[in-house]
Amino acid sequence: MAEVLKSNKELEGQVAVVTGAARGIGAAIAEKLAAMGALVILTARDQAALDGVRAKIERAGGSATVAVCDLTDEAAIQKLGETVHTQTGRCDVLVNCAGVATAGTPLHELAPHDWDAMMDVNLKAPYLLIRTFAPLMIAGKYGHIVNISSLAGKNSLPNGAAYSASKWALNGLTYSVAEELRQYNIRVSVVAPGSVNTHFGGVDASAEKAARKIQPADVARVVAMLVTQEPQSFVSEVLLRPTMKP
Ligand code: NAP
Repeated sequence: MAEVLKSNKELEGQVAVVTGAARGIGAAIAEKLAAMGALVILTARDQAALDGVRAKIERAGGSATVAVCDLTDEAAIQKLGETVHTQTGRCDVLVNCAGVATAGTPLHELAPHDWDAMMDVNLKAPYLLIRTFAPLMIAGKYGHIVNISSLAGKNSLPNGAAYSASKWALNGLTYSVAEELRQYNIRVSVVAPGSVNTHFGGVDASAEKAARKIQPADVARVVAMLVTQEPQSFVSEVLLRPTMKP
């Protein structure tokens, strides 16, 4: 029994920053990492939603703090880094989960501000967050960075070209920065799920269809595996598919 309890708290003493933690996949990842013993820094723009996730984590016996941050604001990301540094002095896990998409529009009709929003949140923000938190990990000689991409970053996505491009780029960023940081005992991985049952792509008309999709907790389980691997090796990429086609 003691062995079981120990394995459930594998992240005891660690600090995990999770973006997009207000709902959906990010909230599920935050809840999972907190259940494993990490102090989770929940970040997104919606304070009330973040407070709800924190309350849920605390009711389950975990620890979390809320740090509101608009990831399109470089100064706000820097402030987030300073807050985490002051409050905890460490960052063991960074999960870049926040993402936005404008789908259903051919590229030649896409407004430039929609292009910018996807590139800013899906691609530039992970860069700025790595820039902010990798130095803390290097100082601690340990870290995991997990970027949440998409199967749209491995395949074509007609009428979602900009979203697809942002995720293809995120994959390339991940593979490259993984090579830069492995010398510091920092493992950088990417998770590319297919359609997940969140409000991201619109609500499904049928509950049966929603149930066949990948669930947020399934992605959280993959992240939990990635941040608890044997020290001498790591899985650098996970493609996550639904068992039954939704
Ligand atoms: P979601 O439910 O819409 O959640 C998106 C999260 O990102 C929210 O917490 C949102 O919080 C945050 N966010 C958006 N813009 C932000 C900004 N400017 N600054 C800070 N935070 C921001 O989406 P999800 O389904 O959980 O998706 C999470 C990730 O998985 C995304 O990267 C997405 O591309 C990827 N993904 C999703 C699916 C899917 O089918 N759902 C499939 C493959 C990959 P606020 O609005 O409060 O800021």
